[in-house]
This record gives sequence, C-alpha cells and structure tokens, in this order.
Amino acid sequence: MENKKIYLASPHMSKEGYEQEYIKEAFETNWVAPLGENVNKFEEELAEYVKIKNAAALASGTSAIHMAFKALEVTDGDIVFCPSLTFSATANPIIYQNATPVFIDSEEDSWNMDPNALEKAFEKYPNPKAVIIVHLYGTPAKIDEIKEICDKHGVPLIEDAAESLGATYKGKQTGTFGKYGIYSFNGNKIITTSGGGMLVSDDKERIEKVRFWSTQSREKARHYEHNEIGYNYRMSNIVAGIGRGQLKVLDDRIAKKTEIYNTYKEAFKDIPDIEMQSVPENTNPNHWLSVITINSNSKVKPIDIIEALEKENIESRPVWKPMHMQPVFKDYDYIQVAEKSVSEDLFNRGVCLPSDTKMDKEDINRVIEVIKGLF
Ligand SMILES: *Cc1c(COP(=O)(O)O)cnc(C)c1O
Repeated sequence: MENKKIYLASPHMSKEGYEQEYIKEAFETNWVAPLGENVNKFEEELAEYVKIKNAAALASGTSAIHMAFKALEVTDGDIVFCPSLTFSATANPIIYQNATPVFIDSEEDSWNMDPNALEKAFEKYPNPKAVIIVHLYGTPAKIDEIKEICDKHGVPLIEDAAESLGATYKGKQTGTFGKYGIYSFNGNKIITTSGGGMLVSDDKERIEKVRFWSTQSREKARHYEHNEIGYNYRMSNIVAGIGRGQLKVLDDRIAKKTEIYNTYKEAFKDIPDIEMQSVPENTNPNHWLSVITINSNSKVKPIDIIEALEKENIESRPVWKPMHMQPVFKDYDYIQVAEKSVSEDLFNRGVCLPSDTKMDKEDINRVIEVIKGLF
C-alpha cells in the first residue's frame, strides 16, 4: 500500500462543523444567491478580526487586487512597483489595467520588497501610480521603511496579504497598513472558502464603489442601467458561509502552522546546509508555509529534496519563480541593488515544505526523516 499522501497545504474545515451550519442557514432561507446575510457578516467579521473599517467580499484574491488598482485609478501607461518574488496574481492585474509593472528585488531578511531597491526604483521612475507589496509565505515585509518611502513620494500602497492573513507587524495586522489590503481564501491558503477574496480599506466610499463595480456596475433603476463597465466579482453567499466558519478557526490554524515551523526548525538545527525562512524583528508571521533554503555549496540540491519527498508521496515545491524571469513579463524592468539578485537566489535555493495543518506528529516526522536522510 502506498504511503499516506502529505500535502503542502490543503483545505481544513473546522471539526465543529461551523461552515456547514452557515451553509445550512443559507439553504434554509434560500439565500443561495445572489448576496445575503453570510456575505455581509463575513465582511464585518473579517474587518473586525483585522481591525479595519470596511471590507468587500469578492470572488478571489486576484479580483480584489484588480479592484484595488481600479479604485486607485491605475490606467493606461501608469507604472506600478511590484515585488518580483511573488505569485503571478500580484502582477497580472497591473496588466488588466493596461499599466506597466516595474519589478523590485527582495531583501534577505523577510524575502519581501527591498526598501533600498524601492528607493532606487523611485530614482528611475519618479511618478509611479501605486506600489504593491507582498508578505510572502506569511512573513511581513519591512512595512515601516516601505511606507515611509511611499509617503515621502505621495504614492499609495497596496498590501497583497493573500498569504499572510493573521500575521502581524508591530502588533498590527498585515493588510491594514496601506490604502488597500487584500486577502485570499483560495484552497491552499491558511483559511479557505474553496475560492474567494477580500478587499479591505478604511475608505468607506471606495469600498462601496468596489461593491458596485463587482456587481456589474448596475445603477439604481428598475431596468438595467449602466454608466460604467462592470465586473462579476462578488462572493456568493454560500462561499461566504464557509468563510465565516473558517474565520472561527483562524487562530487555531496559525498556532498549528507555527508549531509545524518550530518542529522543522528544531529538527534541522544541526544541519548547517539548511536554513529556515527567518522571523524578522517586529513580526509575527502566520507561517502559512514553512520554507527552507539550501546552502549553494551543499551536495544536496533543492530538486533532490523535492524528488525524495515525492517518492514518499509527500508534496513540496520550489519557491516562487520571480516575475522578471517569467517569459510573459520578460519585457518589463527589474530593479535590484545588490550585485546578486536576491529573488533569483531564493528561487534557486528554496523549498516549500509540507505545512498542512492536518498533519500529525508522525506525518511531520516522516517529512523530516526523508530530508535528514539526504544529508
Ligand atoms: C494566492 C495568492 C493570490 C491570489 O489569490 P486568489 O484568491 O487565488 O486569486 C495573490 N497573491 C498571492 C501572493 C497569493 O499567494
């Protein structure tokens, strides 16, 4: 018999069945569609959790990023600064708005946008329309430094907190520092609704506008009246029910992810070739994924680890391939300050380890034993 499959990060519904209760309620009131109580409550409850004034529940994290750019009036020919080391969904909406991304290198500490590279980007392109940052794998970026640079230049900041829901920087939730923050509830994220996203902001008027655009820009009239182009981006009431249930176990999931991270850290502490993604000063990551880097001189390469785990029916993955290395984005500029490109180096040396909250001690030990066996 094959070994039990261990996943990188898979959906984990509450053992209490909260999600089912909210869905059941939606069925009983026939609020299956379009909107309804669960959507409103999910927005309120998430906003309360991260301590922000307004939230719009949307179909995905990607659509939330798109709406953030639209709300900032990012349009034809505008420049947007974007980290290179991220998932493509951070960058794609820049193109949806016919704007031009300029990719920025990472720093070694948090693996996120390097404030020095950002400064350098401002020297070359003094008037970007927006800056978007990411908190990769749930580890907050150098938010104070980045925000200070953005404020100095009067450019709004968007936080792609798709991977970092619940992570804090100086005690404040990621996603609440910029003009807009976005979260994702995709299947592999720390909590999931099967698919979905949220746009948050303290700007009530703009969030209301996003709700309007996201429901086909339908004007208040008996007939269908449209003054603006619309989108079908709203979250369904069933999906929002799952989200309300998941929000109740978010703190448990963060605790478990942290335990997984600490278990790996302890297990690999005597292997000098393995380094865990660090926990930078002032941050409390949610440890969505536990990620290691392998010393470039090591005889063991990241691919050896990935293949050895695969043989044991264990899922792992390379670190995100930087956007400036992607064929689809090859024509856009990339700004780095160090001689060596940090994002490329992390891509070459990184491995995302199984961080599934359904793993028990035995499962985690299986992963550890396979990796230790290679060194
Ligand atoms: C998952 C993810 C997204 C996109 O979220 P979806 O809900 O899948 O559209 C955006 N940015 C980052 C960094 C992500 O990891």
